[in-house]
Amino acid sequence: MTARPFREARIDLGAIAHNVRELKRQMGDTLVMVVVKSRGYGHGAVPVARAAVESGADWLGVVEITEALELRAAGITTPVLAWLHDPGAAFDEAVAGNIDIGVSYLEQLDRVAAASGTANVQLKVDTGLGRNGAADSEWPEFFDRAVTHERAGRIRVRGLWSHLANAGELQDLEQVAAFRRAIELAKSTGLKPEILHMAATAGALRVPQSRFDLVRIGLGVYGLSPFDDATSADLGLRPALELSAAIASVKRMPAGSGVSYGYDYRTAAETSLALVPLGYGDGVPRHASNRGPVSINGRSYRVAGRVAMDQFVVDVGDDDVKIGDRAVLIGDPAAGMPSAEDWAAASGTINYEIVTRLGGRIERTYIA
Ligand SMILES: *Cc1c(COP(=O)(O)O)cnc(C)c1O
Repeated sequence: MTARPFREARIDLGAIAHNVRELKRQMGDTLVMVVVKSRGYGHGAVPVARAAVESGADWLGVVEITEALELRAAGITTPVLAWLHDPGAAFDEAVAGNIDIGVSYLEQLDRVAAASGTANVQLKVDTGLGRNGAADSEWPEFFDRAVTHERAGRIRVRGLWSHLANAGELQDLEQVAAFRRAIELAKSTGLKPEILHMAATAGALRVPQSRFDLVRIGLGVYGLSPFDDATSADLGLRPALELSAAIASVKRMPAGSGVSYGYDYRTAAETSLALVPLGYGDGVPRHASNRGPVSINGRSYRVAGRVAMDQFVVDVGDDDVKIGDRAVLIGDPAAGMPSAEDWAAASGTINYEIVTRLGGRIERTYIA
């Protein structure tokens, strides 16, 4: 047996590959962009991107141009879209790296046009999320300016896109209708965007009208469900991440012993306390104190007392738990392990946040 890292996030690239193939199958002819922003939702952008491309991903999506350049530096040549930029950003490197630039407002459009070379641009319109993207009052001028820059050879408008608020079926369909108005206006202004898109995982799976030419899938690629009423397995997906650590100490303690800061937990009887070397410094939510689920040697436990910066305690009773045994915090619930959703429920957040927040002290390892 090869030694495993003290704290390990083990990424099953076979699961990533399976999820990409499964999502491609469900999407039929619609192109699939695999979103690897924020270090691939904590899973590692480059390894995930490579596995995704090998499994048929048509596009990659990131937030920052620096993230896109990291993929290029790793030799990945798949089309990449980056969509949130420093207001002072110069776009020359993005153009040189053949990175599509998501553009959300007029001044940004002018800056992109000023970069050397012809920039591939995807214009973002706000259809009701209230976040990034041009507001509909700005569309005429936004599209007009894009035509001017395109005719001057400074940009090529490859795509037009938006993002759903997932506020309910009616609201989603209103956004689809608004996006159709934007498409009509862009075309009548003289633009010919080849790629129209607005759906992320939730829209791709539940709002077929929002699929257009391409869907931008993040969460689903990692094998997680964006829905409260459907598990990963229900969607045909496999969670790719297993978060575990070696038990760092075990000791017998008498009944009534206070555990961790503030004594929010006291032992009910003489018992063994096992120490797990993961804390909020690693992204384990402190809100999950006394609640977060852990599996050790196939048995389920909960965090005892408060999660500290570097560690938390598990009361394992009289069970045979030894120093060096693995404590699994997140795995595949289909295999009986606690899930990212369990930790989200224990700490009042969503699975997206649980996996993305995992910190740099946790060693990422990859299995095929
Ligand atoms: C993060 C993100 C996505 C992917 O969202 P998921 O819900 O993880 O699929 C898609 N589009 C944009 C603009 C995003 O920021």
